[in-house]
Amino acid sequence: MAAKKKKGPRQAVGLKCSVCGAFGYITQYNKNNEQLKKQTGGDPTFPLKKYCSVCCAHTEHKQAKKLK
Ligand SMILES: [Zn+2]
Repeated sequence: MAAKKKKGPRQAVGLKCSVCGAFGYITQYNKNNEQLKKQTGGDPTFPLKKYCSVCCAHTEHKQAKKLK
């Protein structure tokens, strides 16, 4: 039986540098966790501190777009 792709809570998103706008990473996050954090006042997943090879420094990376 072939594995079916389910529409799960895990979303693949691209991350881009908020300083120079370079597209750097693809990551996954759990949509449900994100909503839970909003309700409980926790820290949101985004923006993420990531190393940008264009800036040669750790910068904040924001969600660029949803990947399918
Ligand atoms: Zn950058």
